[in-house]
Order: sequence, then C-alpha cells, then structure tokens
Amino acid sequence: MEKEKVANRIYNLRKSKNLKQSELAKELGVSDKAISKWEQGTVLPTLEALCKISSFFGVSIDSLLADRAKVEPIKRVKGGMETIKELYKIGRGPSSSHTMGPERICKEFKENNPEADSFKVILYGSLALTGIGHGTDRIVRETLAPIKTKVEFNRIKKSLPHPNTMEIFAYKGGEEVNSIRAYSIGGGEVLKENEEAKLHERIYKLDSFEAISKYCKENNMRLSEYVEMIEGDGYHEFIQEVWEAMKEAIERGINTDGVLPGGLDVKRKAKYLFNQRHIDETPETKENRLVCAYAYAVGEENASGGKIVTAPTCGACGVVPAVLYYYQKKRGYSDKEIHKALAAAAVVGMLVKTNASISGAQCGCQAEIGTACSMAAAALGELFDMSIEQIEYAAEIALEHHLGLTCDPIGGLVQIPCIERNAVAAMRAINAVNIANFLTDTRKISLDLIIQTMYETGIDISEKYRETSTGGMAKLYKAFED
Ligand code: SF4
Repeated sequence: MEKEKVANRIYNLRKSKNLKQSELAKELGVSDKAISKWEQGTVLPTLEALCKISSFFGVSIDSLLADRAKVEPIKRVKGGMETIKELYKIGRGPSSSHTMGPERICKEFKENNPEADSFKVILYGSLALTGIGHGTDRIVRETLAPIKTKVEFNRIKKSLPHPNTMEIFAYKGGEEVNSIRAYSIGGGEVLKENEEAKLHERIYKLDSFEAISKYCKENNMRLSEYVEMIEGDGYHEFIQEVWEAMKEAIERGINTDGVLPGGLDVKRKAKYLFNQRHIDETPETKENRLVCAYAYAVGEENASGGKIVTAPTCGACGVVPAVLYYYQKKRGYSDKEIHKALAAAAVVGMLVKTNASISGAQCGCQAEIGTACSMAAAALGELFDMSIEQIEYAAEIALEHHLGLTCDPIGGLVQIPCIERNAVAAMRAINAVNIANFLTDTRKISLDLIIQTMYETGIDISEKYRETSTGGMAKLYKAFED
C-alpha cells in the first residue's frame, strides 16, 4: 500500500464534501495536524481513525487502503454463454451488490418465514460501511415490510467470509424462529452460508458474434429467434416482465420531481425534459429531447433506489429502455416486437459479459455505458428488421466510440456523469444504426474485435478511472469550486 495513494483518497473524500481540514478534524474527533499529515502522506491513519473515516464518508476501509492498480485481469470461462436472465435483472438501484443482492436475500427469507412477526438484519463489511449511502437499510426495510424490521450496522467485525455479508433473524412472539447468513456477491447475485457458488449453465454453445451470425444465416434465423430457441420455457414471460419493468421505470421517472438522494443536490430532470417543448421544435430536437427524457427517467429512478432492469448494469440501465420506448411510442411497435429487440440486445450484452466485462470497476465506463449503447444499437437494428451484418456494424460502432471512457462518478454516487451519459449514449445508439444502415458493406472492424479491444483497453485504464471516484471529475469537482 502506498501512503501517497491513501493520502490522495482522504484528500479527495474531504474535497468531495467541501470540508476544510479543521472541519473534518472536528467531525472525526482528531487534530487538524493529524488530517494534514494524512493528506501529506507522512503518516497513515490508525485503524480507529480509518474506521471513523470510512464511516463518515460511507466508503469501505478496503477502498481507502487497497492498491487497486493490481486488479487481476478478469478470469473468463470460455465455452458458451449463460442465459440472458443473468444479464437482465429486475431490482432496485443504485447498486447491484448493495441493493439488488440484499433485496433478493430478504425477499427469499421473508417468503420462507411467513409466520414471523418481526425481523432483525445485521449488515457487515462493505454493506455496513457504505450501506447508508447506497440505501441498503432502506431496501431491506421495504422488502421485509410490512413486518417490523430492525437494521443494525456492524462496522467492527473484520473477519468476514465476504465483504458484503448480512444476517437475518426472524422472530415470533419475541422468540427467534429462524436465521440465515448470506452474501451479496456482486451483479445482484447472492449466496447463502455453506452454499456453493453457482456456476450458471452455459446454455448457449456459441460465444462469438461471428459464430452466432454464421449459425443464424445457415438456419435462416434472426438473432431474436436464435435467443428464443435457446432460452426455452418461460422465456416469453421473462422478457415481458423485463419490458414492463423498463416501461414502468420510464413512466415513473418522467412524472417525478425533486432532488436525488446522496447529498450532491442533483435535481431530477426527466420530467422537465419530457414536458418542456418549444413552440417551433423541429422533429430532430423533439427526438433528442424525448429519448434523453426517457434515459434520464430510468437513470434517476436508479439513483433514487427505484425498480430498474440492469441493461447491462444499474448505472447504464437507461440506454436500452429509452430508445425502445421512444420508438414504440413513435411508430407503434407491439410489445412482441420490442421483445425481439431486447433479445438481440441481450446477445450483444452477453457477448461482452462473457468475453470482456460489463463492470465499470473492472474496465471503466466503456464497459457499462459502451455496452449499453451497443446493446441499444443491436436492439434497434432488430426492431427495424435490418440484416445481421447491419446489426453487427451498428453494435460495433456504438461500442467502438466509447473506447477508453472512464468511470469517475462524483462522490461515488451513480448520478454525475452517469445519468446524463445514459442520455448521450441513447442518442449515439440511434446514430450508429443510421450509419450502419448505409455503410455496412464498407466496414472493416467486427464486433468481436471491438469487444476484445474494449477489454484490453479496460485493463490498461488507470485504477483512478475504474469506479474508485479518485480521478477525473470525481477528483476535480469540489476542488474546482474552492
Ligand atoms: S461512470 Fe461509472 S458508475 Fe457511472 S455509469 Fe459509468 S461505469 Fe457506471
């Protein structure tokens, strides 16, 4: 661990709250000199001080100390792809590990304990340290409601089997009747104590666009038909549920005012964008405004802990729904046609997830928003009945022009730049489809190549730009205001 890195992190956290050294010292109950020494890197905070810093700023001790530059390249299991149900997950934002995972754990425990008249939930590790900022306690209470629930944060226990550990106790008449310990292991996935990590079956045998495209052409199939064939039973119900959740998020978002939680004082803008039409608005301006309004709506729902669908992640959840909702409204596509578009988008999302990464923490925002844009372009290509080559080119363009995009969310909140970025990517997806419509025959770059390029670029990106909030806008925002 380098003192200089720890010093920079403490400095950036203080700046993110616009505090002077003396003000932070007061909050933490330490001297001004101590803060100054930590920020100069001459002294490291004691363990007690680290606990106070992590608690005050809502960040984990790991994130203060860990040398994230040494993140290992992603371990990828080659050979096929999982079901698209592992891509589109319906749940509450803003974080798959801090809200979706705990929500899943609580939901199952509540269903298994219908006799309970009260619950107690203890959050450990990162769930305790950043849980309040991410709304973990709120999601836990809401999921277990109407049963009375007490939530405790245990920020002291260190020897945990997983950084995102939680325990739930069920009571009846004051007597404990059941309990579990469970872990939110990322991407909304959960694991109960003593349960083996699930290896999802790779129901798709093919894992490159080239191979899938060849198969579809040989069998005279569209991408959506390929997905339907492989997904089998329950697929139509699943994809309808996904689309309903996407539409609902847009409709809630464009009807909601206010300020997003988290302390950044970010106003919700979707409703304004949706309603603020100019008298002489051109069709192009209207398209821009509405597509952006829908993307903002979903991004704002995510940031405020609303129900969204990962597409492919929480942070990038607005791009795919925005373009599909816009074209459904504009051209009257049926839900069934939208389902086909979602299937094509899922092929792209799963290819990136399998062969590269959809995680901002691993490959920067190109992996989240870039993938979402690529998915949206593929979705529109399928919706517009374009050829498989055109769909591939549209998806390739959309990802290619996000290469190198960094992840530096201000204050660690999924708000700036994330929400606006969803809107820009939605517009870019439409542009990519327009270009592909005319220029596919001249293309040189395949989707598989650009996915590999995105991955290699991602692992080369400095740790500062991989969801650490220690670089870029996250670092400069408050400093600029000083
Ligand atoms: S900036 Fe980071 S947190 Fe925000 S959408 Fe992009 S990858 Fe996600």
